[in-house]
Amino acid sequence: MTVIVQKYGGTSVGTPERMRAVAGRIVASKLAGARVVAVVSAMGDVTDDLLGMAAKIDPEPPEREMDMLLATGEQVSIALLAMAIHALGHEAISFTGPQVGIVTDHGHTKAKIMEVRADRVSEALDDGRIVIVAGFQGMTPDGQITTLGRGGSDTTAVAVAAGIGADVCEIYTDVDGVYTADPRVARDARKIDVISYEEMLELAAAGAGVLNLRSVEFARNHGVTIHCRSSFTDVPGTIVKEADSSMEQAIISGVAHDTSEAKVTIRDVPDRPGVAASVFTRMAEANVNVDMIIQNVSEAGMTDISFTTPKADLVRARRAADAAVAELGAREWTVDDSIAKVSLVGAGMKTHPGVAAQMFRALSDADVNIDLISTSTIRITCVVEGAQVEAAVRALHDSFGLSDAEVTVESVPACGGGE
Ligand code: ADP
Ligand code: ASP
Ligand code: MG
Repeated sequence: MTVIVQKYGGTSVGTPERMRAVAGRIVASKLAGARVVAVVSAMGDVTDDLLGMAAKIDPEPPEREMDMLLATGEQVSIALLAMAIHALGHEAISFTGPQVGIVTDHGHTKAKIMEVRADRVSEALDDGRIVIVAGFQGMTPDGQITTLGRGGSDTTAVAVAAGIGADVCEIYTDVDGVYTADPRVARDARKIDVISYEEMLELAAAGAGVLNLRSVEFARNHGVTIHCRSSFTDVPGTIVKEADSSMEQAIISGVAHDTSEAKVTIRDVPDRPGVAASVFTRMAEANVNVDMIIQNVSEAGMTDISFTTPKADLVRARRAADAAVAELGAREWTVDDSIAKVSLVGAGMKTHPGVAAQMFRALSDADVNIDLISTSTIRITCVVEGAQVEAAVRALHDSFGLSDAEVTVESVPACGGGE
């Protein structure tokens, strides 16, 4: 019997009507003969609203309490979805993350899944029920509630799929697949039918939020096939799986952009060994994620060190930068939160010279100035002015000829993107 895990994002369950439509879809899969587990996100903008409420109480709330708060969003969804399935005359049972044995580390607000003890899910499936699981949440071995970071319901779904040996993990969202760029920015973006874990990992890491980065890592590590598709239509979406010889090897698979980071610069740092080590030790101790790093050429024994970090980590980064400036006798630190990253991803880059040159030329022709550059074997990322990032995405998309057919984007303004 086919075993399917289906994940529904915030927009897909954003209203009672949408919730009923999702229930109908789940029941249809069951009637077609599958054992179905549905993983759900908080409705619409609920997670953002909870974050906003917390910020009004305390700009830096205790992370344990933050998780306690955020986990409530998904708990509302699972109960309502189970009710919607009952209303259609079918048996469903809802479980929180802790109830289905999603065991995480102690990294409150960005916890990592260590283990899935899926017996309870399997038993409920054996009883002929549809199982509904709250996304985005888990529990530490000593019983603390944790959340997995924004977009974490995708990771719950993949982890449950691995835990019960599902045939496929379907991620239902408000677009009908992974496109060559965010279709809300490049209206002529093209849907990708099949993509390798490797390329999807780079796209997700570069900001293509349609699939959460950790979910793709988990899928690759456990061999889970992902089918990313729309909860609004029945058209096939994008399959994410191990690369094989049948896959078309595009030189460039897509363009991604990310406006969630800021640039921190520590100015006039004495240029001597150990300086970078002490700056980044401070950042690591403050639990600040650091992405791109650049150290400028030294002048008169002084240098500047810049790095990018998620805006969500800025409160902690500022405090750590204060300590680093004092320790090193640097002049000051500054933050630029109007930057954005634009990335070009493609496995064929490894063997095709000239991609970087064409990328920089396309940006320059669009009058986009490049601030920082970083590369991996299959990705080139440029930091640009935030206000120019959408123009940059379109310029790269055009330059590399990534467009093709019409794009379907479901616009649901009343309940937003859910994240
Ligand atoms: P959900 O709430 O269902 O998890 P998300 O908002 O997390 O949905 O992800 C879907 C959104 O991802 C789309 O609405 C789209 O704007 C955005 N997106 C960014 N990059 C891409 C891409 N390359 N392909 C498709 N969608 C993308
Ligand atoms: N509700 C959480 C968020 O908005 C998790 C998710 O939707 O995947 O980030
Ligand atoms: Mg998402």
